[in-house]
Amino acid sequence: MVKDLTTDIRYLKGIGPKRVKLFNSLGVHSIEDFLYYFPRRYEDRTKLTDIAKLKIGEYQTIEAKILGFDESSAFRRRFLNIFEVVVEDSSGRLPCVWFNQPYLKQYFKPGKEVVLYGKIDLHRGCLQMQNAEYEILDSESKDNLNYGRIVPIYSLVERLSQRMLRRIIKGCLDENLPEFCDILPYNIRQCHHLLNIASSILNMHFPKDIPTQESAYKRILFEEYFLLQLSFGLKRLKADKIRGINHKINEDFLNEFEKGLPFELTSSQMQVIQELKGDMASLKPMHRLLQGDVGSGKTIVALYGCMLAVSNGYQSAFMVPTELLAWQHCHSLRSQVSGLRFSGRAINVALLTSSLNKKEREKIYKDVKSGKVDILVGTHALIEEHLEFKNLSLVVIDEQHKFGVHQRLRLLTKTVNPDCLIMTATPIPRTLAMTIYADLDISTIDELPKGRLPVVTYLVDESRRQWVYDFIKENLQAGRQAYIVYPIIEESKTLDLKAASIMYEDLKKNVFNKYRVGLVHGRLKQKERSNIMQSFKDGKVDILVSTVVIEVGIDVSNASVMVIEHAQRFGLSQLHQLRGRIGRGKYQSHCILISDAVTGDAGERLQAMVSLSDGFKIAERDLEIRGPGEFFGVRQHGMPELRVNPLGNLEVINIAKQEAKRLLEKDPSLSLRQNQGLKYTLSVRFPDYEKLMAA
Ligand code: ADP
Ligand code: MG
Repeated sequence: MVKDLTTDIRYLKGIGPKRVKLFNSLGVHSIEDFLYYFPRRYEDRTKLTDIAKLKIGEYQTIEAKILGFDESSAFRRRFLNIFEVVVEDSSGRLPCVWFNQPYLKQYFKPGKEVVLYGKIDLHRGCLQMQNAEYEILDSESKDNLNYGRIVPIYSLVERLSQRMLRRIIKGCLDENLPEFCDILPYNIRQCHHLLNIASSILNMHFPKDIPTQESAYKRILFEEYFLLQLSFGLKRLKADKIRGINHKINEDFLNEFEKGLPFELTSSQMQVIQELKGDMASLKPMHRLLQGDVGSGKTIVALYGCMLAVSNGYQSAFMVPTELLAWQHCHSLRSQVSGLRFSGRAINVALLTSSLNKKEREKIYKDVKSGKVDILVGTHALIEEHLEFKNLSLVVIDEQHKFGVHQRLRLLTKTVNPDCLIMTATPIPRTLAMTIYADLDISTIDELPKGRLPVVTYLVDESRRQWVYDFIKENLQAGRQAYIVYPIIEESKTLDLKAASIMYEDLKKNVFNKYRVGLVHGRLKQKERSNIMQSFKDGKVDILVSTVVIEVGIDVSNASVMVIEHAQRFGLSQLHQLRGRIGRGKYQSHCILISDAVTGDAGERLQAMVSLSDGFKIAERDLEIRGPGEFFGVRQHGMPELRVNPLGNLEVINIAKQEAKRLLEKDPSLSLRQNQGLKYTLSVRFPDYEKLMAA
């Protein structure tokens, strides 16, 4: 078989159906995806640290022999499994511990050699490495891919190993790089000292040395932004000619809607609504990003836009990342428009998610096509190919960081040039926003509705558990409701899920046997999940034990207590999102973080949660603590779909922008023969832009 870059990975040696699935879950489907699956970081295994020379507070790599291990679950810590290994090198011994990863014992066999990477902390006066990344060595792995060199460390899921991935990627590189063509014009590469593409990809995976890796990164980042800016530029050239829909402002109807709201809009909301009105009234299609902290009231602004569309006889689509959120939005939108009439009929809000059965789905498809549905709320199901709108004029995308740029654009191609409002609750500083969202206008809601009391946050350890339970009871007694949140981590989904449900059983039977306790997690069927959420909303459930499925957007204003278990396992922005579920009503709310590991990065994150409440400040701190690489873990953020983290070199981004502009000045439709490689790559990398251009 002749393979090329698009060849499916299942045709590669050593990749069976099970592994194909695992790799797919990492976004790797083709050989090309492997080539661009860049490491998260590197380990310089030419320079290992002796145990005797380890420094407290720093991340370091050691190579040592496993002496033995011990497993315990500490007193009063029924839910915390501690796995401890002692390792030794010629200079000394070091204990290493992992929390809640009991499966590690199958890997850590005494006598084996292991490479460990982690931060050194002081624990009861002794040095210790906590939750280190590890790689067990054997005779096979002491080859030139895994040893005695700068080694790539990839993001993985359970059951995939670094070593396997290195081998597979090396194979792909050897086979494909020799025939790789460079799409960047020679003069641009020469002028900015950019490496050629083949050695860039090679050195991203297996760097000759760190400076070469940095050059490789610079080249790839340049190319990514060059392409992105080209597509933005092409779009802008077209956009100047594109005519969208100029909505008429029906003040009477909009005033009626505003009057019907149970609250007064904040001045920030009104400001953004003005911007929205301006955009929607103009013939130019709107592309606006709405940033606002959790709870700042973005939904109502979006709904205002929908009302504007409705009052012009058009449809709106409201896309959200989770079924739970779709369900909730649909309910609250329905109640907010329930009193309104347009052209003598009620406003019809429908819900479309992938868990509808065929019949229900087809009914909605029909109603959307016929124009019976005015506002369609839904998940990814909205970008399903067969869905046709009668006359869609507004697309709203909530919690955009959960979607990729492709998904967002696919919805836009549903119709001719609709207006588009994109919302995010992980606000970032403006300068940053402008590089990341280069093609969008930005609006910001920078105040919370009046009367909100900032959530009071506590950080406690296991010893205070009884106090935590008593505190919850006190609040329930006063008529409030509470969340108890459990983390789910990719590597051990089943284990954590068990933790949440064991916890739930225990709380229901013992601690809170006088209260109504509910459990919600991602594996429940949509119906069950909505039922539980509805009961919680209606006050029929007092305590909701949950995994992070409630992270985004859920709104229950009577809930005033949130307990977050194993809080050290969450990222700062994620904690902030979670905490945003409370403090939404008139009651003083409390967030209790339960955590053991309060040193290092985790400690800094938790401290930041205690001292900061403003989402913008939290984002800045998050960036400081994690560094841009982690913060913008491209894969988590999903937008734009760049192959490397954009924040490592802002200067290159600007140069790429200028060069893209220059090229488009010379060849505005990329029709010159020498630019065909670029044009083709654009159509492959950003196919939706291509479609937009054709429209
Ligand atoms: P987010 O910006 O996080 O999406 P929501 O739109 O869900 O926030 O709003 C949070 C809560 O605040 C909702 O219950 C909403 O009804 C309420 N809300 C929105 N705007 C106001 C306002 N101006 N005054 C009071 N409450 C408001
Ligand atoms: Mg929201």
